[in-house]
Amino acid sequence: MHFHTQNVHFPNKEKAQEVSKTKPIYQTSAFTFQDFEEMEQYFSGDKSYLYTRMGNPNSDDLAKGTADLEGAEMGASAASGLAAILAGVLAVAKTGDHIVATQDLYGGTYSLFANDLQDFGIDVSFVDMESREEIESAVQENTVLLYSESITNPLLRVEDIEGLSQIAAGRGLRLMIDNTFATPYLIRPHESGADIVAHSATKYIGGHSDVTAGVVTGNKELMQKARGKIAMLGSNIGPFDAWLGVRGLKTLAVRMEKQCRNAASLAEALQSEKAVKKVYYPTAASPEGNGAIVSIELADGVDATAFSKELDWVKVVPTLAGLETSITYPIATSHRPLPDELREKLGVTAQTIRISVGIEDERDIIDIFQKALQQSAARVNS
Ligand SMILES: *Cc1c(COP(=O)(O)O)cnc(C)c1O
Repeated sequence: MHFHTQNVHFPNKEKAQEVSKTKPIYQTSAFTFQDFEEMEQYFSGDKSYLYTRMGNPNSDDLAKGTADLEGAEMGASAASGLAAILAGVLAVAKTGDHIVATQDLYGGTYSLFANDLQDFGIDVSFVDMESREEIESAVQENTVLLYSESITNPLLRVEDIEGLSQIAAGRGLRLMIDNTFATPYLIRPHESGADIVAHSATKYIGGHSDVTAGVVTGNKELMQKARGKIAMLGSNIGPFDAWLGVRGLKTLAVRMEKQCRNAASLAEALQSEKAVKKVYYPTAASPEGNGAIVSIELADGVDATAFSKELDWVKVVPTLAGLETSITYPIATSHRPLPDELREKLGVTAQTIRISVGIEDERDIIDIFQKALQQSAARVNS
C-alpha cells in the first residue's frame, strides 16, 4: 500500500477488538461489505445497514430509545421535529386526503399544514379540539387523520387524547399526537389510542439545546412507511446529531423530574405577583408532574420587552426545554406564522411570556422572576 492509499484506508476491514461502553458514532455515509455476496445480504434482510440516508445505527438508536419509552413497536428518527412530523403525516395521508388538526398548533407545524401540505394536495381544517361538534363537523369523506398536541403551546392545554381516539376510531381515522412538551415521562399517547406520536427531539429528548432532531413512533407498518419517507425526502438525521439525541434521552427522566418540580414551584410563586395577570400551568397532566413550561400573561401596562431585560442569567431564546431556564415571546417566535385573528382567538397576546424552567435551584429561579416582575410593576406605577 502506498502512502496515498494507506492514508485513506484506515481503519481497515479487520474486526475491531475494542468494545466501547457507549455506542460509537457511525459517522459514515455508507457501510462496507467483504464482497458482493455480503452486500446482497442487505437486500435479503440479513444486514441492517447499507447507506446512511436509509438507516444508521445511531439514528436507529434514537428511534428505538424513544419508541421504547413511548411503548411503541417502532420509531423513525429524522433531521428535525418538523421532518419527523411530515414523515408521520405522509405515512398516512397522500394527495387528495384531508386532515383535521387542532387550531392551537406549534407555529411551525401550523405553517407546514396551512401552506406546504396544501402544495402536496393535502387539505387541513383547523378546529377547536375541545369541541366534539367542531371536530365531527370538520370530518369529511376524505379525512384520514386527526392531529393534535398532548400539551399545547404556549397556553398549555392538556389534550384529551382518549376522547380524540374514540372519535378517530368511530370515523375510521388515524390519530397523531405531538408529544414534545409532555415527553413520554409524563404522557404516553399510544396508551390512550394514538397511532402516531411525534417529537421535536430538539427539545426535551435532546435536552441540552445542542441538536436539531425529530422522532416519530407507532406500529411497524406505519413506521416503515415513515422511515421510507425520511429516506426518500432525504430528511434523515446525521449520525452525530442522533448520538447527541441519545445522550440527551438517557437523562430525560431525571431532568423532567427536577424541571417539573421547579416549574410547579415557580407557577405557584408567580400567582401572587402584581405584574402577572394570569399564570398558565396545567393541574392534571400526569401523576408524574405537569410539565416544565409555565406561561404568564403580564398585567396591563407591563412592558414585555422591559421585563425581558431584567432577567440577567435567564436566557431569551426562540426555543424551550434546555437545562437552563429561558423565556420566549410567542407572538414573535413560535406563533409568528399564525394569522392575527387566530392568535387573538387563542389568547396569545403581546403580554404572553413562555417560561421554560430549567434544572437550577428553584430558589434562584423564583427569586430572579420575582425581582424582575417587581421591577416591572414599579415601572407601571411610576
Ligand atoms: C419545536 C417544536 C416542533 C418543531 O421541531 P423542530 O425540531 O424545530 O423541527 C414541533 N412541535 C413542537 C411542539 C415544538 O415545540
